[in-house]
Amino acid sequence: MAKIVIVGAGSVGVTIAYTLQLSGTATEIILIDRDKEKAQGEALDMSHGLPFVPPVRISAGDYPDCADASVIIITAGARQKQGESRRELVDRNADICKSIIDNIMCYTTSAVLLMVTNPVDVMTFVALTHSHLSPGQVIGSGTVLDSARFRYLISRHCDIDPRNVHAYVLGEHGDSEVLLWSQVRLGGTPLETFCCRCARGCGPINKTMIEEDVKKAAYKIIAAKGATNYGVALATSRIVSALVRNENSVLTVSTLLTGQYGISGCCMSVPCIVHSRGIERIIETELHAEETAALRRSASLLREMCERFG
Ligand code: NAD
Repeated sequence: MAKIVIVGAGSVGVTIAYTLQLSGTATEIILIDRDKEKAQGEALDMSHGLPFVPPVRISAGDYPDCADASVIIITAGARQKQGESRRELVDRNADICKSIIDNIMCYTTSAVLLMVTNPVDVMTFVALTHSHLSPGQVIGSGTVLDSARFRYLISRHCDIDPRNVHAYVLGEHGDSEVLLWSQVRLGGTPLETFCCRCARGCGPINKTMIEEDVKKAAYKIIAAKGATNYGVALATSRIVSALVRNENSVLTVSTLLTGQYGISGCCMSVPCIVHSRGIERIIETELHAEETAALRRSASLLREMCERFG
């Protein structure tokens, strides 16, 4: 049985609920929001689709519902306004996350906490230090979404199914994130080799443009429609599936680093093995020197913000 609680029934929270409803991953989904009427309306709307999807119960609830949850997803809080960076949300959302964690801890210490609220790496650190749970049990959605954006853009350039493109973004879910070009593989073939042998004549991939598109994706979507919700919801559902199905999947979730890659004192995304109890372990992959340096720069920016909540 997989009971999933989502705290924050705004556009990200309800889209996560909807993707979970379609995927059949959960047996029960509970929506908690300070606006109880909105949570009830969203749950009722989704419940009317139940004859068309795998069985799942969906309802609005409150913190006592966390007692027997497998995963608690936190999406509550302010979102970026047009032109605003994720880091600018830190103080507002840290207070909200702390009060939510206090409420959750009254009812469970066994669920995995999955942070989505931005800036997600700092919120993961806040949730970890405030809850006193084990580091593996508190995860941030991190750069699972950014890695998907990276894979999508490479797949478009190479005209390959994005599921056959393996590519990772590490570091901050934000402006300082690091695209690991050295690790890109298409069906097991390194990108450079793939492009050299490709007869389509499109020329070398424009790395600068792809980096810009991955890093600025959220700004572009927010300018166009006010918020991002579908990509993050699918990325979060992917993490939930790894947790609930005990998949041992390698995902770039945000976690506390304690010396890996020469980094400690902050949460950020690195490849992790995700199983039913959260993060089983961190993978330390081979990086090029400039990728390691960029990752450490990203870490020092995050550490500066995390230190205030340590
Ligand atoms: P939204 O404004 O649509 O929804 C936020 C919801 O949180 C609202 O329903 C509000 O009532 C609720 N809320 C606020 N304080 C609360 C509290 N103390 N207790 C319970 N509920 C509370 O915002 P959104 O677009 O859904 O975005 C939510 C968060 O997700 C933002 O911080 C946004 O930046 C973040 N986000 C993260 C990613 C990612 O990849 N990690 C992607 C997109 C958005």
